[in-house]
Amino acid sequence: MAEKGFDLRTAQEPGGEKKYILTEDAKKESKFGKLVFEFPQERNEVVAEGDPEDFVVKPQAYFRGASQIPGSEFNQSYQIFVKPFFLDRIQHRHAKDEFLVFLGASFPNVFDFDARIEFTLGKGEEAETYVITKPTIIRIPAGVYHCPLNFKEINKPVLFLATLFTPMFGGIYDLPDGKTMEMYYNGPVQCKYNPQKKCDSCGKCLQEDWQN
Ligand SMILES: [Zn+2]
Repeated sequence: MAEKGFDLRTAQEPGGEKKYILTEDAKKESKFGKLVFEFPQERNEVVAEGDPEDFVVKPQAYFRGASQIPGSEFNQSYQIFVKPFFLDRIQHRHAKDEFLVFLGASFPNVFDFDARIEFTLGKGEEAETYVITKPTIIRIPAGVYHCPLNFKEINKPVLFLATLFTPMFGGIYDLPDGKTMEMYYNGPVQCKYNPQKKCDSCGKCLQEDWQN
């Protein structure tokens, strides 16, 4: 596209003179620094006793949402599965949409895919299980029950991204007594206000604004 005196192919000078490497000081001094976040290296916490730990490559990256970039209405995981693993065993739903992405992790070709993953959408009589054998993305609309999610066969590494459009990861579960339970999980990170404390997903930091 080229208008007179305007051409998207021409590089533009950024304007301001400020250039940052993202130190804590730079974050305080800059206007937009709270919008730029370097991934911490995370190591999965074993979900159930007796489960193998080495189903996923360490370290992993996770974007934990509004606790890391204030105001984010979105969180996302980036995991590489190398062994079969029954990841999500209990049906649940969310208040917002979720997207699941399965790609080959034999980089650089994401279509180099050799795995068999089973995922269920819907509940009870309407439940449908999809068998994923190729690069796939799945939308789970808000309120739609889903899971189990079982990585049954992993012959080549799989890149798995779970994206949920809420400020923190979590789900709504139906209990046997007919009640529902909301559960949130923000990773094995420390509390933003008390470095001695592990995050207990209290949600206080979700109220922060990136401009303050
Ligand atoms: Zn879910």
